[in-house]
Amino acid sequence: MIDFHCHLDLFPRPAAVVSEVEAAGIYLLSVTTTPKAFAKTARLPTKSSRIRTALGLHPQLVHERHQEVDLFCRLISETRYVGEIGLDGGNEFARHLDLQNEVFNRLLRSCSDAGGKILSIHSRHASGEVLEALKQYPGCGIPILHWFTGPIRDAERAVELGAWFSVGLPMLRSKRAGSLLAKIPRERILTETDAPFASTKGHSYPREALSSAFAELAKHWKCEPEDVKQQLLGNLRRVVETNRPAGTDVAVSEGRLTTQSANRYCPATPRR
Ligand SMILES: [Zn+2]
Repeated sequence: MIDFHCHLDLFPRPAAVVSEVEAAGIYLLSVTTTPKAFAKTARLPTKSSRIRTALGLHPQLVHERHQEVDLFCRLISETRYVGEIGLDGGNEFARHLDLQNEVFNRLLRSCSDAGGKILSIHSRHASGEVLEALKQYPGCGIPILHWFTGPIRDAERAVELGAWFSVGLPMLRSKRAGSLLAKIPRERILTETDAPFASTKGHSYPREALSSAFAELAKHWKCEPEDVKQQLLGNLRRVVETNRPAGTDVAVSEGRLTTQSANRYCPATPRR
């Protein structure tokens, strides 16, 4: 199974969740919400783990943590994965959208300067702005829109831009799931939980949410859950292979994070 957007470090007992995920053989992208959280979170998985850790700066925290942009740029060479980054235009955060945009653009530039990453992107109430920013940085890597709730037209534009989507159970059970999935090629979809924020009951990892997501996809795609599994594993392999820097040997199932070239250009901390 694949969980391409999970906040491992925000579970009450991350180590226990890591053991559970590793024992279940789940491929998991462990996203972080601040650059400061990256180092500790990256140490959670064991050597043979299928867990990868992404470097992030959550848009809902940008107004408090924008000073960490420099740290983000210093750490970018440590991982091939970035997230959670993006924009949030919801009521509580819309007033910080200018700053969010400035930071998001700097992070995308940093990804682009580093040769491109695999990015997990938040676009709540700001999908149009997110797509505009992605358009400015075609070299940023492979954007994967997490829990997309924007207009269907933006989903189509995102597909045209080459974006992927990670979908979770709440989204797959929403009224508009059918019309949204009709616009997204199967080859551009991965599953996610966004745990512990969504799909989670109690303190343990929501495995059943992942298997239910597979079942929902099978319904939408009119195929067997086994076909969904094969499709998603193929997708995961492709996204990882596509973004593989030359001369590295990361496989979907083995190995630790690959260290890339030395530090690149690092944009300055944004102004308020
Ligand atoms: Zn998240």
